[in-house]
Amino acid sequence: MTLSFDPDSIALPHGHFIGGRLVPAEGVIPMHRPSDGVAYAACPVADGALVDEAVAAGEKALRDSGWDEVRPRERTRALQRWADLIEVNAEPLAQLEALSSTRPVGQLVAGDIAVTAEQIRFFAEFADKECDALVPTDENSLGMVMSEPYGVVGAITPWNFPLSMAGWKLGPALAAGNAVVLKPSEMTPFSTLRLAELSVEAGLPPGLVNIVLGDGPTTGSAITGHAGIGKVSFTGSTAAGSAIMANVARTGVKPMTLELGGKSPQVVFADADLAKAAQAVAGGVLSNAGQACVAGTRLIVEESVAEALVAEIRRHMAAIRPGPTWDARTQYSPIISERQIARIEALVDASVAAGAQSLCGGTRLEREGYFYAPTLLGGLEATSPALTEEIFGPVLTLQTFRTEEEALALADHPTYGLAAGLFTRDLSRALRLTRKLQAGTVWVNRFGRSRDHILPTGGYKQSGIGKDLGREAYHANRRSKSVLIGL
Ligand code: NAD
Repeated sequence: MTLSFDPDSIALPHGHFIGGRLVPAEGVIPMHRPSDGVAYAACPVADGALVDEAVAAGEKALRDSGWDEVRPRERTRALQRWADLIEVNAEPLAQLEALSSTRPVGQLVAGDIAVTAEQIRFFAEFADKECDALVPTDENSLGMVMSEPYGVVGAITPWNFPLSMAGWKLGPALAAGNAVVLKPSEMTPFSTLRLAELSVEAGLPPGLVNIVLGDGPTTGSAITGHAGIGKVSFTGSTAAGSAIMANVARTGVKPMTLELGGKSPQVVFADADLAKAAQAVAGGVLSNAGQACVAGTRLIVEESVAEALVAEIRRHMAAIRPGPTWDARTQYSPIISERQIARIEALVDASVAAGAQSLCGGTRLEREGYFYAPTLLGGLEATSPALTEEIFGPVLTLQTFRTEEEALALADHPTYGLAAGLFTRDLSRALRLTRKLQAGTVWVNRFGRSRDHILPTGGYKQSGIGKDLGREAYHANRRSKSVLIGL
């Protein structure tokens, strides 16, 4: 079986998904395939009235189905059926995802889509296993802490991993008894629409999962500012996260989970297994062509092994195979859009103009679509844009150190604190530095997630507020109520 497919043969689901059905809508924002630049569709933009409808559909679904009150085991079972159906539909889902996003189809079925189904299963299990508590008060009272869902949760997702980001948001919100109005990125909405259709096919109450398409300023703001939305869960850039905070503050007060940008360091000590470190460092920046919030874009290496490590990383960079996302052999992703590749070019060019040396790549790849070469920049000033800005592309910077203190100082970014990688065979050093690194996740002798849904993910500093995944994500979708009964 090959997963490769003809991009022109794919039928796209068009419109918004509200109250359990597709609501047709006219396309407004032109969409281009990242792999070849071909204009192939247009994304509709939901206005405030349509977002009202989606929120009302969520409220109605909760009222009619009692989803927030049904025995939790029923929520668990329904969500498990949905996860099963996602796996059954893995191939068509992978094709929809690969068509508009940067994710190669060969990495999707066993990767992102399996992960999305597992995330939903993981949170489904929480529904009937986390229980409310009796708390000790005094001998004349009985104290209880009850927890309840928020009602309708508003979720907004980015384009870089459309399905698994939707899984991050939908899994915990639904398991916790909420309905959801979700806006996927205007560049990659189709797989999320299909995911929502599958929820109804799996027997989840229609209206529990509503998908509205559109851009940030129109549709996104209508969601985050909506009085009927009890909680906002966002993944995207720090700039958009801050605009969302401002909009929420302007229109009311509600809790927010914000998963934002990053500029993660990968720190390699001379005692590390250099071959493994090189592979992890290259993978950490080349996966999805660097279009990952946790991308390990800053290599900080002990001076004595820098030359050997760089040679090995360059070998990995040269070997990775680019190709269209619909070719199952493709290893290396395109960049999402012309706008984004132009931004990468501008940031690399500005860094080179400010004195950086290109040790690998540094230009677009000469082929159709939006491909940028795996890039390594050295000789950087501390103020170089390549070091300060989140590039969101396959650009690795090189800095060297002699002491642990120097390594820590370089690793600490003034703005971001999403993740960090540490490579050393010295366990004491690894633990010492792990405690000092300002990052929401630290990977030791590896870089990147595995299927560890129990580990919460989220940022320090401007990389975010709150956590996705883990117990914390489930509890972030419920609020507690204290009850005191006089005996
Ligand atoms: P983006 O911020 O441009 O857009 C993300 C989503 O927010 C899109 O759906 C967009 O339409 C919407 N949006 C934009 N402005 C908005 C506004 N004012 N109000 C409401 N919604 C708005 O980000 P992107 O380019 O799609 O994704 C890349 C960014 O996402 C990077 O910065 C990356 O680091 C970040 N990201 C973070 C994580 C994490 O877990 N921390 C995961 C993935 C991506």
